[in-house]
Amino acid sequence: MKISSAGLTDPGQVRRNNEDSYWVEPETGLYIVADGMGGHAAGEVASRMAVEVIREQVSAGLASGRIPAVGDKMLHVSQRARLLGAAVQMANDVIFSAAQENLEKKGMGTTLVAILLDKSRFAVAHVGDSRLYLHRSGRLEQLTRDHSVVAEQVARGLITAAQAETSDLRNVLSRALGVAPEVRVDVDEHPFRSGDSLLLCSDGLYRVVPDDDMGRELARRDPPAETCRRLVEAANGAGGPDNITVVLIRREKTALWPRIAGYFNPGKGLQRYGQAPS
Ligand code: CA
Repeated sequence: MKISSAGLTDPGQVRRNNEDSYWVEPETGLYIVADGMGGHAAGEVASRMAVEVIREQVSAGLASGRIPAVGDKMLHVSQRARLLGAAVQMANDVIFSAAQENLEKKGMGTTLVAILLDKSRFAVAHVGDSRLYLHRSGRLEQLTRDHSVVAEQVARGLITAAQAETSDLRNVLSRALGVAPEVRVDVDEHPFRSGDSLLLCSDGLYRVVPDDDMGRELARRDPPAETCRRLVEAANGAGGPDNITVVLIRREKTALWPRIAGYFNPGKGLQRYGQAPS
């Protein structure tokens, strides 16, 4: 099974600093996008802290095999997924405590979406409105539901998805990491199939690049670094009003055909196994 991945972040066309952070670690299968908030560079600090704490917690958990206690909300998932969820909760504690100790950093927080890949499955944990998309068989599907006021209004049928896009509340999060002593982390698991692509991104991408355009870029199956570059370029081409971050993970299609082909063509098959033609 061949998995290829890449990540890219860009400040965009308007903002001077970049409060997004990301992490790509194919060795452990850990991939993260975090979008920080808070004045005086606090957002940068919060998103970077989230990445660092999760890296540390996941690698310590995998090395020791010990999974920290998690709440009832995570009992339906595997140990590996719980480890990821517990790491995100730990990041919440660390960011919240840091914000309490430093007046300038008070109110800092971050959104977060993280993947922990394990061969043909992956766990996803998220808080806030950074998203995970799955591209499978030519279709793009959003796997995470935003923790935002408008997403919850849409889910309750109070407004339509179109109204959500223009609502004054569209930037208001209902959950974020580091802004309260406790946070509810959404954790889930899905199969990762041959040919699948996973896209983690901050809102700087999906607010300006339509899903259809994202799907088209993923369908090209360029090398992941090239797809990341093209997605960032698309967001910048649409004005780049916010920081843009993308992480792409792809499971390459299994090349079964060349091996099977030998069985249908005995002559070729014999040569493949190194027997001299008689
Ligand atoms: Ca953002």
